[in-house]
Amino acid sequence: MKTIQLNSRPVGIPKLSDFKFVSEEQEKIADGEMLLKASYISVDPYLRGRMMEGKSYIEPFELNKAISSGMIAEVMESKLNGFSKGDFVSGMLAWKEVQVSNGEGLLKVDAQKAALSSYLGVLGMTGLTAYFGLLEIGKPKAGETVVVSGAAGAVGGIVGQIAKLKGCRVVGIAGSDEKVNQLVSEFGFDAAINYNTSENMTQAIAEACPNGVDVYFDNVGGEISDGVMMNVNRFARIIVCGAISMYNATSVPMGPRVQPILIKNSVLMQGFIVSNYMEKFGEAIPQLAKWLQEGKLTSTETIVKGFENTPQAFIDLFEGKNKGKMIVKI
Ligand code: NDP
Repeated sequence: MKTIQLNSRPVGIPKLSDFKFVSEEQEKIADGEMLLKASYISVDPYLRGRMMEGKSYIEPFELNKAISSGMIAEVMESKLNGFSKGDFVSGMLAWKEVQVSNGEGLLKVDAQKAALSSYLGVLGMTGLTAYFGLLEIGKPKAGETVVVSGAAGAVGGIVGQIAKLKGCRVVGIAGSDEKVNQLVSEFGFDAAINYNTSENMTQAIAEACPNGVDVYFDNVGGEISDGVMMNVNRFARIIVCGAISMYNATSVPMGPRVQPILIKNSVLMQGFIVSNYMEKFGEAIPQLAKWLQEGKLTSTETIVKGFENTPQAFIDLFEGKNKGKMIVKI
């Protein structure tokens, strides 16, 4: 049985040598435990932060220990009430092909109701992040302009589609022409900008948002966000969800001082962690599932096959190789 451990703390963009594969003996289960086989692994940008030492909202990974993330696993054997062989579970698990669990933090998921991988995406952390960030902090109103960065990614694609369902004008920012075209043709965005070919983001946003920006859902930070913030309207809401453009930075990048723009326009800027809304997950998941079933929400996934390709799939997030949720299928 193989496990993927953190071999060294990455400096800059993670490298394959920051990970190592270690063979371990398969553990036996005791009463109150079950044996799980990995089916799908979610690779997420936030894992980069956990690879660093230091205080954060979540413990850092330890060197020479298995990395963990959201996963779907199949129950192979069970001595735990409520879980039977053949069930599928979702939750934070170790990057191990097979592992023993006492069920803590795991939920059973129904493969008949939705594709198993969607419990890591639109019906999992990704969908919940989009839902609560946009609706609780952004509070978009029909007719307003919503801009989302990282728009062709897992969270961003859902944010834009929910904003469209709320009657907003939606502008996405992504890193390739292919992604930009997909946002408009498949997800119904009103406009989209390729930040890699756009010379002046402030101007590009001004052109795509003739009425200014009322809500900005920020997944990337850095210069892209500086350009959006130059175009905010009075009482705009800026949702600081992620800052992937800075996750691999070795020093804190300096940007323009945006405070005068925020003051002048009475802008709300708020960061959040999806788990802040845990008590309300039960209301959001049925709504997301309903939109999915009704075809109002399109879920895109990039599925990479093979446990051994998990580290590379994670690294590829930083080069934009995914469209929608990046998932490894075992
Ligand atoms: P994505 O599916 O969006 O994947 C990452 C994407 O980021 C890539 O596809 C790439 O798209 C883009 N990207 C990579 N490097 C850069 C860069 N230097 N500048 C701009 N864009 C870049 O990931 P998720 O949807 O899972 O996560 C999106 C963001 O939301 C992340 O910042 C993540 O940390 C955050 N997040 C926050 C949560 C919270 O609770 N606050 C929960 C979940 C996620 P492209 O080709 O367009 O560059």
